[in-house]
Amino acid sequence: MSPVPPSNGPPPIDAATSPATPTISHPKPNGEGEPADASLPDNYVTYQLSRQTPLPPITWGNWYKELNLLHFAVLGLTPLLGIIGAFTVSLRWETAVWSVIYYFMTAVGITAGYHRLWAHRSYNASKPLQYFLSILGAGAVQGSIRWWARGHRAHHRYTDTDLDPYSAHRGLLWSHIGWMVFKPRRNPGVADISDLSKNEIVRWQHRHYLQLVVLMGYIFPTVVAGLGWGDWKGGYVYAGLLRLFFVHQSTFCVNSLAHYLGDAPFDDKHTPRDHLITALCTVGEGYHNFHHQFPMDYRNAIKWYQYDPTKWTIWVTSKLGLSSHLKVFPDNEVRKGQLTMQLKNLREVQEKLSWPSDNSHLPVISWESYLQQAQSRPLICIAGFIHDVEDFLDQHPGGRHLLTKYIGRDATTAFFGGVYEHSNAAHNLLSMKRVGVLHGGAPHGLEDKAIPPSQRLRIARYNEMSGSGYSSGALSDGDGFMA
Ligand SMILES: [Zn+2]
Ligand SMILES: [Zn+2]
Repeated sequence: MSPVPPSNGPPPIDAATSPATPTISHPKPNGEGEPADASLPDNYVTYQLSRQTPLPPITWGNWYKELNLLHFAVLGLTPLLGIIGAFTVSLRWETAVWSVIYYFMTAVGITAGYHRLWAHRSYNASKPLQYFLSILGAGAVQGSIRWWARGHRAHHRYTDTDLDPYSAHRGLLWSHIGWMVFKPRRNPGVADISDLSKNEIVRWQHRHYLQLVVLMGYIFPTVVAGLGWGDWKGGYVYAGLLRLFFVHQSTFCVNSLAHYLGDAPFDDKHTPRDHLITALCTVGEGYHNFHHQFPMDYRNAIKWYQYDPTKWTIWVTSKLGLSSHLKVFPDNEVRKGQLTMQLKNLREVQEKLSWPSDNSHLPVISWESYLQQAQSRPLICIAGFIHDVEDFLDQHPGGRHLLTKYIGRDATTAFFGGVYEHSNAAHNLLSMKRVGVLHGGAPHGLEDKAIPPSQRLRIARYNEMSGSGYSSGALSDGDGFMA
């Protein structure tokens, strides 16, 4: 409402000179390094969905023909060999501790590296940190940074549509693991990764990905346990295979559980949700409703007590001088999203309650007519409204006699403190007993008395705001308050 722009907003445009100075130019994408999405048609999503025929749904009859054999082998053999190994190799405590540590290290390679650094550019990382994260991320065996970030950018751009490679609308199991185990039913939507194609560390990791996977996924965890405390087999089974199984499931939960479990405190347009359990399963990626709203924010959890070790790790690297430019979305805008959802929830509560009739829905009668009708039924005039108190006579806390005394009279002064300063609840209840409006009966100074306390902060949609403050005519436009 304020005519003054917010202090952190851009300066106002100069009305005198702006029409004559069209100086803004946009660089044209050119040949090499051109963003993949530089020349998309405006109706790209509909266009793409209509021109591409999806592969048939997976059924009991065709599933074995539709497998992605490489992914099936990696995702299936890892837990299988791990479980067989666990029955034959006993777990030493040193190996158990190392497995947990290496679980977190490789998971952070994905969350702080693949996800928040490369897929979302939510901070800048020095070269040593980038090499470190790219090597650890390879130990999580989830594809190269290029492949992973490309799919994830499509997930954010086309969330919940068929161009989202792991759309939550295709079911919990599909978004968790089905989309990898089977051949994709459709190509994912276009997502630009030209920035990653120029990044030397991303290119290096992509080139040497297979060697890095074998080294970091299996050999390194085995060697640490082998050379450290002589537990070669345990290192392979627990810190290698079973640790990898848990890292896989942890990341997959971001695509499944985080689009299924919890609430939407920032926006409920799409499926992403916030939940502590998801955060615990995913090294802090569980505040996914926030993340989809503000994907370039280096945080997932914005409150200090919420579980987001990935955020803490990034923050520590910045204090060590290994990273910089940690992006944080303006708090003012974050809180707007929260307020919108809070109002929306309150509006739902509001719509479930019954509300009094107002001027536009009540017959207008003269003082003479009021006096006449009050002869045959207990009518009392307060603040310009005529009320029928028939069913309240015996429930009035002050006694029946105080009500009958005012039948056919104006009890405004008495009601608002002349005799007793009635409570807000009493005023709310009174307004439910309205049966008419007194012609010319709402003089100046009574406006606040005509509005029951429960309606003074009523939540109104933007198209309900016109007219006088009290007239709630818009409330009856399909919202059913007056029905
Ligand atoms: Zn998501
Ligand atoms: Zn993301």
